[in-house]
Amino acid sequence: MGLLVVGSIGLDTVETQLGKIENALGGSATYISIASSYFTSPVNLVGVVGDDFGKKNIELFKSHNINLDGLQIVDGEKTFRWGGKYHEDMNNRDTIFTELNVFEKFDPIIPQSWKDNSFVLLGNILPSLQLRVLDQVTNPQFVVCDTMNLWINIALDDLMKVLKRINVLIINDSEAKMLSKETNLIKAAKIIRGFGPEYLVIKKGEHGALLFGNDFTFSAPALPMETIFDPTGAGDTFAGGFTSYLHKSKTINKASMKKAVIYGSVMASFCVEKFSTIGIENLSNEQISKRFNAFVELARFDFNE
Ligand code: AMP
Repeated sequence: MGLLVVGSIGLDTVETQLGKIENALGGSATYISIASSYFTSPVNLVGVVGDDFGKKNIELFKSHNINLDGLQIVDGEKTFRWGGKYHEDMNNRDTIFTELNVFEKFDPIIPQSWKDNSFVLLGNILPSLQLRVLDQVTNPQFVVCDTMNLWINIALDDLMKVLKRINVLIINDSEAKMLSKETNLIKAAKIIRGFGPEYLVIKKGEHGALLFGNDFTFSAPALPMETIFDPTGAGDTFAGGFTSYLHKSKTINKASMKKAVIYGSVMASFCVEKFSTIGIENLSNEQISKRFNAFVELARFDFNE
């Protein structure tokens, strides 16, 4: 079965120290599905856009062999729009605006042939919509979920219901602290895994990522980079690389989970090099393996060299 992806699809206006881009392709499911297309097929996308979304963006999805049978295009309505401005350090940003538009009435409908036995990636959207998706899926092989601080603040009850039904939660360090009400990440991980997910990934931006399982903890580095152009979508791209690698490998164990974290980091490192999805639109398998090896080399201890 394919990789079922649900999340936001939008048009972003983003300002960083290095420039500004308006109405550029964005949204959690967008970054996830493009990143996933390098590892697995089919990527089955469920989402919603308005009739202003643009043919070029639809064509981009198609050029990555993303199955759009679950994409709703609503006539006479506008696509989800988000605007953000990054601080000088690029680690923090302010949301300038969020226009829900088509999202206000969105009801994710999973096409019949995708309902049974899917590998599911719940991208960042309202937890009640993530639940709507899980309610339609029978015998999911594996469920990975991303979320954000907004939902921990305003939709915690639904988020807790989601956590009981997933295998992996991917969040960043500040979200982990918020969700667990604990400032130490090791203690936070124990608390969050107690809420449901067997595995937890905590992303630490330019400081890498931590993976927590039943009997192990794995620390992955981040690639030291001279220039970060636009961090938007890095978290979603990480989730896409991570989950699609697991889907492709058809094995869930300590080794495949660790490798998935590195592939997630590899894809995120390409994402931040350009605005919008540009950095992950035209990658070759060779570029991806070269960067994977760079990550492995970065964390290799060999004291005899
Ligand atoms: P990230 O940088 O990984 O947090 O993801 C950024 C993407 O999330 C942008 O492309 C936005 O379009 C999208 N986004 C921002 N706010 C929301 C929201 N409230 N719900 C769903 N997606 C959002």
